[in-house]
Amino acid sequence: MEILAIDIGGTSIKFCISDENGNIFNFKEYDSEAKKGAKHLIARIIQLIKMNYKDFQAIGISTAGQVNNEEGSIIYANDNIPNYTGMKVKDIFEMNFKVPVVVENDVNAAALGERNFGAGKKYKNFLCLTYGTGIGGAVVCNSGIYRGFNGSASEFGHMILYPGGRKCTCGFLGCYEMYGSTTILVKKALEVDKKYVSGRDIFEGLERGNTELEKILEGWVSDVVYGLVSLTHIFNPPAIILGGGVMEQDKLVTLINSKVKELIIESYSDIEIVKASLGNKAGLLGAVSLISGILR
Ligand SMILES: [Zn+2]
Repeated sequence: MEILAIDIGGTSIKFCISDENGNIFNFKEYDSEAKKGAKHLIARIIQLIKMNYKDFQAIGISTAGQVNNEEGSIIYANDNIPNYTGMKVKDIFEMNFKVPVVVENDVNAAALGERNFGAGKKYKNFLCLTYGTGIGGAVVCNSGIYRGFNGSASEFGHMILYPGGRKCTCGFLGCYEMYGSTTILVKKALEVDKKYVSGRDIFEGLERGNTELEKILEGWVSDVVYGLVSLTHIFNPPAIILGGGVMEQDKLVTLINSKVKELIIESYSDIEIVKASLGNKAGLLGAVSLISGILR
């Protein structure tokens, strides 16, 4: 069977065709033009599909925003995609393409992708965190997603790390993502030198032995680690998978792993902290597993 997988983000839209085993072909990526609003975005996706793809038997969608998985609608999306909140994504695509459609939040989808095709293959239970503009979280429980009461569980980025601390986009003060996101690391590094505009630049700077930068990284890693330590104590998972571009640095994941183990209660120390292995295809492969899931 041919599954059309779509990954809808604030900056890009990705597409591919896949079989049930996650063999991807015809991968394409486009600017999402999300700032023009959800209506434009969805119309653009439909047009791109009609242009590039036919003969698929189901559509799996991984998308930014909180998703009502049963209805395939958007419970809440921030201003990265204006007017996306409330959109009935599943209905729209089913009406246009007359095939079954499943919709899932992007971090949950990435976690499912890792579970079925990537770093999570050997675990039935694990946590997945992605570090980027914010910090996304997912709980994989018995190989499925733990969703919470109304589908909004696992907002690890909004755990309060420092009460009364920095103001978060969610309105609270001191959230984890205001200290541990890649955005914050880059913001701090930019104060050292304007050339550090991405995680990659920062790690190149560290290779050259910039001590100021080392200090910044140390502080940021410490905050990342405190979040992970709390989550380890709450969930007692066998593994935590770390995703997001910055976590592609092996050295960083090794450092985080050793710091977590220094701090956690000893009886939790069997935990494995590993990096995600699917890169920017995790969401797409998660969308594929959603479809394989309903077919089983
Ligand atoms: Zn927050």
